[in-house]
Amino acid sequence: MRNICIVGAGFSGAVIAQELATDGFKVTIVDTRPHVAGNCYTRRDTNTDIMLHVYGPHIFHTSNEDVWKYIQKFDTFMPFINRVKAQAKGCVYSLPINLLTINQLFNKQFSPLQAKEFIE
Ligand SMILES: Cc1cc2nc3c(=O)[nH]c(=O)nc-3n(C[C@H](O)[C@H](O)[C@H](O)COP(=O)(O)OP(=O)(O)OC[C@H]3O[C@@H](n4cnc5c(N)ncnc54)[C@H](O)[C@@H]3O)c2cc1C
Repeated sequence: MRNICIVGAGFSGAVIAQELATDGFKVTIVDTRPHVAGNCYTRRDTNTDIMLHVYGPHIFHTSNEDVWKYIQKFDTFMPFINRVKAQAKGCVYSLPINLLTINQLFNKQFSPLQAKEFIE
């Protein structure tokens, strides 16, 4: 049996390692970081139990059916809905800016026409 050493436990290293191991190779993966997943690593915050994207936010998206089938062999994927919020002066506002944002920001109950006049 051939021994393979892979440097880096991110997606690249992990996928190559998994494929080689499936083909019968003995694979060792090393990484300088104390976790797998490279820059896609997530962990649960101990206080809030919220999933944190440690190196920046990551969304998995693909239009390739083979990739989608392949990745689902390893875990269950959570659906993703993109709801963008902005924080200003201690309050949270919806984005992109719409009538609700304007009413939230100025503490008003404008109709669309009133909001237009107010902004102008
Ligand atoms: C902020 C941010 C947001 C992103 N958002 C998305 C997204 O939404 N969707 C998406 O598909 N992609 C996203 N990406 C890109 C995605 O993170 C990368 O495509 C993916 O992580 C690449 O995987 P990789 O295995 O090639 O490299 P990496 O994830 O970088 O993993 C490489 C690993 O190798 C290790 N390593 C490097 N050198 C050595 C060494 N000499 N010795 C030991 N270990 C070493 C590193 O510690 C690391 O763990 C984003 C990237 C960033 C930074």
